[in-house]
Amino acid sequence: MKPSPFEYHRASSIEDAIAALARHGEGALLLAGGQSLIPMMNLGLATPDLLVDVGNLSDLRYVRVQDGSLRIGALATHSAIMGAGPSALACPMLIVAYQSVAHHTIRNRGTLGGNICHADPASEMPLVLMLLDASMVIRGARGERVVAADNFFIDAFETQVGPAEMLTEIRIPAQAAGEGYAFEEMSQRKGDFAIVSAGCRLSMREGRMMNVHFGLTGAGDRKRRMSVVEARLEGAVPDDRVLTDAAELAVVNADPSDDIHADVAYKLDLVRALSRRVLTSAVQMAAK
Ligand SMILES: Cc1cc2nc3c(=O)[nH]c(=O)nc-3n(C[C@H](O)[C@H](O)[C@H](O)COP(=O)(O)OP(=O)(O)OC[C@H]3O[C@@H](n4cnc5c(N)ncnc54)[C@H](O)[C@@H]3O)c2cc1C
Repeated sequence: MKPSPFEYHRASSIEDAIAALARHGEGALLLAGGQSLIPMMNLGLATPDLLVDVGNLSDLRYVRVQDGSLRIGALATHSAIMGAGPSALACPMLIVAYQSVAHHTIRNRGTLGGNICHADPASEMPLVLMLLDASMVIRGARGERVVAADNFFIDAFETQVGPAEMLTEIRIPAQAAGEGYAFEEMSQRKGDFAIVSAGCRLSMREGRMMNVHFGLTGAGDRKRRMSVVEARLEGAVPDDRVLTDAAELAVVNADPSDDIHADVAYKLDLVRALSRRVLTSAVQMAAK
């Protein structure tokens, strides 16, 4: 398949990219690693009439710790983030979850910024960034704004980034020492998009779960973080009954659809099993 005709502009700076988007209006799209956008164009699912290529803006490829947060430039590739020392030190859960994201070739080109702006409901990183209380820096002609991950994702393939704006940075607070975390998924082949994935992050104080963050992908396009499950667990002693109840609550609140990979019944079984598994692992890690 071939994409429909489009114009091409290679941006020389963030300001140049934003100005090109603003000049052109809604038909313009940024091109980062191209790992989602180009397949969408080839399938006729995206038909931009201008591509603003930001792939050369190496200023936005950094991964560093600053003021207690991991700061990731929007154009840092998945591989660069996984391999960067500061990522593992500040946000080990990110590295654990990254093991499930795509294949090496895709990770070498695809960027975290592009991944979250694409906002595929099946993607792991939008969920992980919500569980890590991340925030996103969005730049437009009028300046910068910072949006919490919980508010950044509006719907499937829709985020807070406006037509003449660009995501420039992802900020993730460093994880507290002693925190427990886990991320697991089921996909047909390693590196494929997950059928269902589950993530959890929590602390233990005097035998009780605190600061519980829990969520899923594959449980419905608008379901990522599951506050009802978090509320059931917050302050509770993590015995067998509580963890089983929480996994059942995740099932009751999940709303997956049939697709070519799995039917609803199978997905709900995965929600139950993976929820239980990540909760148990996170509790065991935090209790050490
Ligand atoms: C075979 C295959 C398997 C994959 N498996 C997985 C997987 O298991 N899990 C997963 O999460 N992903 C997976 N992906 C997607 C991959 O992670 C992509 O790299 C990522 O989704 C897009 O990043 P990109 O840099 O290539 O963005 P692009 O494709 O260049 O852009 C994607 C979208 O984001 C917009 N955009 C890009 N950068 C910015 C920015 N800075 N500001 C505003 N808008 C921006 C673009 O305009 C476009 O709409 C897979 C892709 C392929 C092809």
